[in-house]
Amino acid sequence: MTPPLPDLPDTLGNSRYNCPECGGPMSRIPRRMIDRLISIVRPVQRYRCRNFACQWVGNIAVASGSNDPTDRPPL
Ligand SMILES: [Zn+2]
Repeated sequence: MTPPLPDLPDTLGNSRYNCPECGGPMSRIPRRMIDRLISIVRPVQRYRCRNFACQWVGNIAVASGSNDPTDRPPL
């Protein structure tokens, strides 16, 4: 199952994606180990909805080739 990938500009939040549940802004959060393993095959980033009433958490597939420093594996 692939979540939708809205191609939205980076606006108020620190994520260019919006919550698939409520459409609100999301914050990027550290991935779990399983998410890192998934990212070997399909790069994903983990997000949490900033809407307190929603609290959606999940992975969103991203284009490969990210140079985000948080994507570096732990030393
Ligand atoms: Zn939400």
